[in-house]
Amino acid sequence: MSKVLNFKQELTACFGQPVSENPTQAMIEAAYRHHGLAWRYLTIEVSPEGLADAVKGVRAMGFRGFNCTIPHKVEVIQHLDGLGESASLMEAVNCVVRRGDKLIGENTDGKGFVESLKPLITIPGKKVVVLGAGGASRAICVELALAGASHITLLNRSANRGETLAKLLRERVKVGLAYESWTSDYKVPEGTDIVVNATSIGLFPDVDARIPLDVSTLKPGMVVADVIPNPPRTRLVRDAEARGCKVIDGLGMLVNQGVIGIRHWTGIDPDPTVMRKALEEVFG
Ligand code: NDP
Repeated sequence: MSKVLNFKQELTACFGQPVSENPTQAMIEAAYRHHGLAWRYLTIEVSPEGLADAVKGVRAMGFRGFNCTIPHKVEVIQHLDGLGESASLMEAVNCVVRRGDKLIGENTDGKGFVESLKPLITIPGKKVVVLGAGGASRAICVELALAGASHITLLNRSANRGETLAKLLRERVKVGLAYESWTSDYKVPEGTDIVVNATSIGLFPDVDARIPLDVSTLKPGMVVADVIPNPPRTRLVRDAEARGCKVIDGLGMLVNQGVIGIRHWTGIDPDPTVMRKALEEVFG
């Protein structure tokens, strides 16, 4: 039986649920069962001090790979043998894959996001507004640029994080970029094609938290995407739908990054509908 691990230190902070109900585990193992794979995907808490030994354990025990979340996404890099293109550009890894006797770091967060956009819009030449400049935003902005978006307007509350991401994007990818400090309700400019909430505003239990955004500037036909997986129908998703926008919830990104991870580890193309159903059951 093959195994894939999921290193999380702050699982309850990430998803507000105990380890035994970890949504990613439920989603990945539902796909394994559906496709008749006798694999497991186990959630294991690893402290920052234990990370080096945990990766040694992965090597020693022949695991096929693992996912990792904050606080391991950057620190894990020093323990790996190489990085895929996106992970190298972002300097963050959320998915490790064994290739031969090497452990290679990939980043599937932004790729999962871009996959979830594809049924609704073609990305080349599009103008995007991205709210937030944390890890999710970094992954999304890099992949949008690699997918051919023409312009990104990036907004962040704290200048430090916002300017750091803006600098990374200017230096490493080809995309028109404007960085704006986010101090009041943002008015989405005319001609914007895609609006992305990449902040943690609206994540359970703060489900009624309001994003500083003038929703009257969301226009019919715009694509509005929210990264929040729990709850999937966030206040932004509901507001955008009511204004005639096409919406993508955070489950789409989560499912698609899981699909890409399973493809990396097992070589099969899993059925995303089975995976989404498993997540919906966990999130009620
Ligand atoms: P980070 O902590 O790295 O970044 C959080 C971002 O949210 C920062 O830009 C922060 O701004 C901003 N923010 C938080 N609260 C506020 C507020 N009240 N007003 C304005 N800005 C705010 O987190 P991640 O980027 O890793 O994750 C962000 C969200 O994305 C999480 O909710 C996570 O669940 C979700 N996510 C979803 C995935 C999926 O597959 N659906 C995958 C990965 C993440 P500042 O810098 O000013 O603090």
